[in-house]
Amino acid sequence: MTIKICPLCAEGHLSQSSYTCNVEYRGVKKDLTFSMHLCNICGGDMACNGDLNHNKTEVVSFRKEVDESLKKPLRGMSPHVLYFDDSSYIEDIKND
Ligand SMILES: [Zn+2]
Repeated sequence: MTIKICPLCAEGHLSQSSYTCNVEYRGVKKDLTFSMHLCNICGGDMACNGDLNHNKTEVVSFRKEVDESLKKPLRGMSPHVLYFDDSSYIEDIKND
């Protein structure tokens, strides 16, 4: 196991931690879990490369999920909803 030394105080050891953040994209909100590291001496919190990659993946996949859901037609809607019977309209014209 690799021990990461805190770059802020140069004494403490960093341990993996996470926090939840409510993110909004195109009107859709969701709680995403982001990762970070905490120092046991100074209490500093920071993101290592692995944390940044994880956090970016969380945001990108959430945005893809929202984009895909907005592409789908509304539930219950079908192309037939827009069809209407125009035979009575045609008869009205003939009577004139
Ligand atoms: Zn520290």
